Amino acid sequence: MTKYAFHNGSIVPIADAHVSITCTTFHYGIGCFAGIRAFWSEKDEQLYIFRAYDHYKRLLNSAKFLMSDVGYSNAELIEITAELLRKEEWRQNVYIRPIIYKDDGVFRVQLHDSTDKLAIYSQPVGAYIKADGALKVGVSSWRRVDDNAIPARGKISGTYINSALAKTEAVKNGYDEALVLTDDGHVSEASAANFFMVRDGVLITPPITDNVLEGITRKSIIEWGRSDFGMEVVERSIDRSELYLADEAFFCGTGVGVAAIGQVDGRLVGDGKVGPTSEKMLALYQKVTTGQVEKYKQWLTPVYSK
Ligand code: PMP
Repeated sequence: MTKYAFHNGSIVPIADAHVSITCTTFHYGIGCFAGIRAFWSEKDEQLYIFRAYDHYKRLLNSAKFLMSDVGYSNAELIEITAELLRKEEWRQNVYIRPIIYKDDGVFRVQLHDSTDKLAIYSQPVGAYIKADGALKVGVSSWRRVDDNAIPARGKISGTYINSALAKTEAVKNGYDEALVLTDDGHVSEASAANFFMVRDGVLITPPITDNVLEGITRKSIIEWGRSDFGMEVVERSIDRSELYLADEAFFCGTGVGVAAIGQVDGRLVGDGKVGPTSEKMLALYQKVTTGQVEKYKQWLTPVYSK
């Protein structure tokens, strides 16, 4: 159970971390957040925050869109997070949720002249989605928000209405997850995960300019594809019809880790089972996040001093 939050400049009991019903973000969704994971290594007796710098960089970039400034540097945000996790004494995998919100208490819809606040809390998370059933995915009737509407590359609170519409439609239609297309019909991403497919041994993912979140796991997978698995990795627009021809496909993200896709719109992807690339990406993800790969240890922030 979560005991603490960082709120209004200090670590307080979670029960004392409140926002008012007059909070701007509560009304209009004008806020931005991060979703970070820390992984417990039993062997090292250590809790590792995965790519904290990159997550906070994206958060601070998202805040830029919203003209929000909470006055903390990336390094300070990492230190606050580590302190919070230490205070919780977590010895298990946890999800960390920092949020920057606007709290003006007046009825105005604008970005400028606002009071910007920061809250961070963490909570335990279970194992990754079990992949022996590869996911059943449906192409959504909803379209991904466009950069000219709400920048999808940032993690902006209100954008998640778009994600929720797609996710609920998919689940109500009997799928596990949605694949959302851009307004011009190219594959963008899932409700809260990035998309990869494999065709003829080439690892392909939509470019950020197809309205996808600048995913940290996505960035890691691209690097692993090239440098650990010697694959050709291409960032290019993906047509819907290619989904039906892919040899393999998977989602990736902080929440899902790496999750293989077995079907799209009721058609099998490859043989419908977890493909070899998804399998080896997931294996490497688990190793890297728990500090078992020396060259990627620089991505990890150890929480406890030794
Ligand atoms: N796309 C969306 C819309 C998301 O919410 C997430 C989860 N943060 C992702 C992709 C995956 O990004 P990351 O790997 O940084 O968690």
